[in-house]
Amino acid sequence: MIEANDPTLKPWVEVPENSDFPIQNLPFGIFKTQYLEPGAGVAIGHCILDLTYLHENGFFDELGLPVGVFNQQYLNDFIGLGKKTTSAVRNRIAELLDINNKELQSNKAACAIALIPMEEAEMLMPIKVQNYTDFYSSIEHATNVGTMFRDPDNALLPNWKHIPVGYHGRASSIIPSGVNIHRPKGQTKAPDAELPTFGPSKRLDFELETAFITCKENALGDSISTEKADDHIFGFVLFNDWSARDMQVWEYVPLGPFLAKNFASSISPWIVTMDALEPFRVPGVEQKPEVLPYLEYEGDKNFDVQLEVYLQPQGGEENLICQSNFKHMYWNVNQQLAHHSVNGCNIQVGDMYASGTISGPTPDSYGSMLELAWKGTKPLKLSDGSERKFIEDGDTVIMRGYAQNEGVRIGFGEVKCKVLPAK
Ligand code: MN
Repeated sequence: MIEANDPTLKPWVEVPENSDFPIQNLPFGIFKTQYLEPGAGVAIGHCILDLTYLHENGFFDELGLPVGVFNQQYLNDFIGLGKKTTSAVRNRIAELLDINNKELQSNKAACAIALIPMEEAEMLMPIKVQNYTDFYSSIEHATNVGTMFRDPDNALLPNWKHIPVGYHGRASSIIPSGVNIHRPKGQTKAPDAELPTFGPSKRLDFELETAFITCKENALGDSISTEKADDHIFGFVLFNDWSARDMQVWEYVPLGPFLAKNFASSISPWIVTMDALEPFRVPGVEQKPEVLPYLEYEGDKNFDVQLEVYLQPQGGEENLICQSNFKHMYWNVNQQLAHHSVNGCNIQVGDMYASGTISGPTPDSYGSMLELAWKGTKPLKLSDGSERKFIEDGDTVIMRGYAQNEGVRIGFGEVKCKVLPAK
């Protein structure tokens, strides 16, 4: 077992019951405060542990980390050290936070500097995203969309069960939770109209996704096997792939999403490590027809992570509108990465790979407004009496996620973003 995952570990830092951030989680992020430049931290309870301070004061001396590796705007250099090193750092942090360890605990002056209340910090982008790819790996989502827009009897296109379908997205507009967006403008064409018009999107949507971040490259021309893929994946964030459906239907043939998707994607700021999710591995669904040999895999490669979406109207309360689970993925992350690199595409440190909308089998588990309100035919009723077919100006969309068993709850925190009127 990974040492930091030991469910019997108890920290000396206060961690409220049902906190997303127990000692068994220890997700990594980049934060700043009024007094501190951006740097790396780890979440524990309501606090952030300042890794720059710990490193500069010798708490990681045994690990041989480069000088200044945490005192940076992004985690790219840190995660690029490789999982052997980053896992050792996480285990060392668990050791320092263990109630039976006095090294940091007994040094009150150091504690006062190293532990920062979350409300005093602002979370920033955890990595500089080098490349961004979005997959389309939930069979329920792909089936729903195919049913709505094409043919209920042939909802999945012929390639879908053979290829983890994806497209290359836009890295520059990936933003952390708390950064709000303006409604995008673009071309749309109503089905009965002869010509397109220009204006603010009338069908703005969210997509409930997770994304994994890579920490090890392969040389151009080389491939990553499903077996080796774990070595390349540092961890996961929640991912809201904002989508303008009316722009999407007009532009997407033949080359796929473009302006309907590239205006913004929101992520949760804490990267939950693959290590922390190890106890929550579950088998994937049976894949039929059989996949080609390079997509075959062994072991449990799906993760049981409960996912939730809340919609909060301007001045109103949060409405839970979707409950799904990461375990519903048809294609797992190992298959996604193996497929992505099988042609020799070079994966880089700090790439982001989103899952595609994660819909479950039931209507309350659909991961987008498009599906929840079924193309606008079944509007959602909110607690304030209003209805939604898509996202309106002033609405805030919040996604949360957590993995939980008898002993431990590993949370992702949240990704929250408000939609402002078009500029
Ligand atoms: Mn998507």
